[in-house]
Amino acid sequence: MHCLGCRTTGTDSPTVGVCQGCGAGVCAAHARVAARSVRRGSQLGAPGAAGARRVLCPVCAAAEAPGAAALTP
Ligand SMILES: [Zn+2]
Ligand SMILES: [Zn+2]
Repeated sequence: MHCLGCRTTGTDSPTVGVCQGCGAGVCAAHARVAARSVRRGSQLGAPGAAGARRVLCPVCAAAEAPGAAALTP
């Protein structure tokens, strides 16, 4: 698979990941890795959160940024 961001600029770069928002392939330069927490444990056990990660393309990363979300009614 080739990076969609690079593809639109006329170059082909191999992907290192897939955007979790739109499914586009992203290369190392276009990948935006965001931290996310995964809740684990049951109601009976001690609650906890594990650090995980999420790969996004620049477009989805910008759309999900706190500043952009504030513009959404
Ligand atoms: Zn790229
Ligand atoms: Zn995306």
